[in-house]
Amino acid sequence: MDETFKLKRSQADIMIDQALEGDPREICGMIGGNGAVASKIFPTANIDESDITYQMDPKEQFAVMRTLREEKLELIGIYHSHPETDASPSMTDIKLAFYPDAYYLIISLKKKDDPVIRAFKIVDGNVSETGLEVRAD
Ligand SMILES: [Zn+2]
Repeated sequence: MDETFKLKRSQADIMIDQALEGDPREICGMIGGNGAVASKIFPTANIDESDITYQMDPKEQFAVMRTLREEKLELIGIYHSHPETDASPSMTDIKLAFYPDAYYLIISLKKKDDPVIRAFKIVDGNVSETGLEVRAD
């Protein structure tokens, strides 16, 4: 069983604010932490500049990986937004999920005043929702 992904309210807000700012384009980023507990959010540019796909800037991705190593954190999550659709992985998201150990978080802005975040594991094309716990800071 996959663990419920845990993050703080302020960390969820960083992703939601980024999603709202980037709207109508998808935004993306990385989450550092240990196991299923987030400790740091790393927004990255979406070099696709698209409203239906995302691709993290490889240079930023590299810099984040170095920071994670220095701070003894793991890459535990990858997040992106869905400006118009539900917070579930698209066929493209599933096909391009190259990190079986990472949690995939999706922020849906389908209701702009009520963003929804959900967490998934995507392993060999199989999607399972893991649950998400947002804790008070
Ligand atoms: Zn997506």
